[in-house]
Amino acid sequence: MGNNVPFIDLITPHAALEEEIVSSFRKALRSARFIGGPAVENFERQFAHFCSTEYCVGVGNGTDALRFALIAAGVKTGEIVITVPNTFIATTEAISQAGALIDFVDIDEKSYTMNPEKLREYLETKCTMDNRTGRAVGLKTKAPIGAVIPVHLYGQMADMDPIIALAEKYNLVVIEDACQAHGAEYFSQKEQCWRKAGSMGMAAAFSFYPGKNLGACGEAGAVTTNDDGIARKVQMLRDHGQMRKYVHAIEGYNGRLDAIQAGILSIKLRHLMQWNDSRRRNAQLYDKVLAEVDGVILPHQHKWSKAVYHLYVIRVKNRDEVQQFLLQSDIATGLHYPIPLHLQSVYADLGYTEGNFPVAEKVSREIISLPMYPELTEKQQRYVAQKITECLTSIASRTGYKNGKG
Ligand SMILES: *Cc1c(COP(=O)(O)O)cnc(C)c1O
Repeated sequence: MGNNVPFIDLITPHAALEEEIVSSFRKALRSARFIGGPAVENFERQFAHFCSTEYCVGVGNGTDALRFALIAAGVKTGEIVITVPNTFIATTEAISQAGALIDFVDIDEKSYTMNPEKLREYLETKCTMDNRTGRAVGLKTKAPIGAVIPVHLYGQMADMDPIIALAEKYNLVVIEDACQAHGAEYFSQKEQCWRKAGSMGMAAAFSFYPGKNLGACGEAGAVTTNDDGIARKVQMLRDHGQMRKYVHAIEGYNGRLDAIQAGILSIKLRHLMQWNDSRRRNAQLYDKVLAEVDGVILPHQHKWSKAVYHLYVIRVKNRDEVQQFLLQSDIATGLHYPIPLHLQSVYADLGYTEGNFPVAEKVSREIISLPMYPELTEKQQRYVAQKITECLTSIASRTGYKNGKG
């Protein structure tokens, strides 16, 4: 008893901010500004500043943000949008909902994000160049490749320089899925400076789902961009295609950020840097106490990456057994994600099978996400490490015995 380690703690951070949050809610209640208004505009300004972008447009959730960003950036019906198979399905749902076609390239085995070499290979070997449009066209589908969505998974940015270079060469729109990467940074060799997640693509999508590094007390999301045309288009898309009330040049959606969530997000944003620092510190401690454990592959942070550890994901053989053992020891874990998207039945029509994206497939069988949040204590982390050690030691002695090596 007393050793219970939850996967995430959404109670403690809100308890500390309760008075502030309640008074911001009271302000919304008493002014009846529930949709739009100064609370939304203030948060948008603050989050754009945080991401070092010109614009931020608050929307209903991260999936809205992805869908609106794709449409606003000009991705058209029937075009192909390339992403990775190991992401949350929202990434590909947004592609379909924007009217585009989904395709995948494999990931890098160290960072678990898009492998730029695989993107290059796709564009060079699975496409031909349409000299009229300057775009690549799928050999089999005859569909133009319109965009690429690198996913900054687990809080670490994808290798953006080579992805952007390819996008420039092939005239592709880059939309960052930054839903797990609020505050993550990437050192751009090309620009010789650190760049924030959300500031490198044509536009980027953020989710403020409660469990994200910056989470609302409900649903929320945002699009960031430096392009005023995209920002304006997203403002229309989120609000039924209107800039002025009842004047519609396009059809849009109901995908607005509400004032109550915006007020709460402004309060929480002031703590995000410090929370990300705590996550990094916790990751360092995990790195240290798990380094000695045989059979654990630790998260890898490239020199060009400052990760914000939305998740702390290790790899082990016998993953399911380890997860079960930890559960029995009162340690909650997660799998992000157990089935790569190309093997999901919903995407059977894409025609992919086991073996098509070997790295994503291999990784999906071995990953396990350990408890990770700013409030995690050293004692809890040492307990997690101790239980992983116990489990792996017992597996090693058993399998060693079976193999006649023990
Ligand atoms: C959370 C998440 C989303 C979707 O965000 P919602 O706010 O739940 O719609 C999209 N992509 C990734 C990688 C995510 O983690």
